[in-house]
Amino acid sequence: MRRRVTEAAVLSAHAQSPADVAQWTCRHGQHARHGCVACYHASADVDPAEPLWEVAAWFTTERPIPIRALQDVHRHDRGLTLTQPSTPLVYLLSARVRAALGSEAVAGVVGFLVQNRHIVDEFTVTEIRATHS
Ligand SMILES: [Zn+2]
Repeated sequence: MRRRVTEAAVLSAHAQSPADVAQWTCRHGQHARHGCVACYHASADVDPAEPLWEVAAWFTTERPIPIRALQDVHRHDRGLTLTQPSTPLVYLLSARVRAALGSEAVAGVVGFLVQNRHIVDEFTVTEIRATHS
């Protein structure tokens, strides 16, 4: 089920109806919050006609991410930014990506973390957002 182009979708970890879960599941059956490596790889050569999404994913970690690893994220492609807003052990991963659906945009961005365990080994995504730009 697709939403309108003005979509600004927000998921909080605590409010999840079955409809929410379906909306946030990518075509590989992964919930966007858990990330999808297939979506991450798919985002490498996505059709430029697909909509552009501003994606934000907040997550918590068990251990602090070294500053160096935070900075390393910029060296990866796809305009990913990993920042620490203010609270210890809370991080924000953001990017502008093209994808057919907001769920797949987010699944691909979180999939970056899944794919790069040397940056963060354990993480829990607490909030995700996908906004059409
Ligand atoms: Zn996927």
